[in-house]
Amino acid sequence: MIYKGSNTYSINSCETIEVFYNIRTDIEKLNAASEMTKLTYDVTTENQNSYKILQLYLNTLYIISETDKDLEFVISIFKMRLMMLIGYKPIVEKCSCCKQPKKLVSFSMKHSGLECEECKLSDTSSIDISPTTLDAIKYIIGCDAKKLYSFDISKESKKELEIIAKLYTKEKLEI
Ligand SMILES: [Zn+2]
Repeated sequence: MIYKGSNTYSINSCETIEVFYNIRTDIEKLNAASEMTKLTYDVTTENQNSYKILQLYLNTLYIISETDKDLEFVISIFKMRLMMLIGYKPIVEKCSCCKQPKKLVSFSMKHSGLECEECKLSDTSSIDISPTTLDAIKYIIGCDAKKLYSFDISKESKKELEIIAKLYTKEKLEI
């Protein structure tokens, strides 16, 4: 129950709908949920419509609590999707540097997106990625919210995605 005071809103009472119980009994799940909560808190502000971020947050809590998915993988997906929702959608349709529709082989932190063979040579912020990781990034930022966690990739690609998601979030949020 929420009510409006003269300047602020106050919560009067509440009723639990879903407690995500498994997060309480597993320290790794708790750690992943905490990291995600901190990031969500950092990118949202009061009185701003954050429906899509809330949806992402709740879906991810559900995945952490109710499935056995690799937690680093879940957090990487969460980060890339969150960056997209707050306006930092990486450029994936063409080279983020020369803007040409060339074959894309790496991810550039400087140009916020995928990069071609030639451009990456002069870009120290560029990280080589496999075609699978490239497709995963495209999927994460373009898929339906409900299907965000409905895919899997190899261990190597998960590692690449993890590095990119970590650096990209750091760069965009200046943390
Ligand atoms: Zn290029």
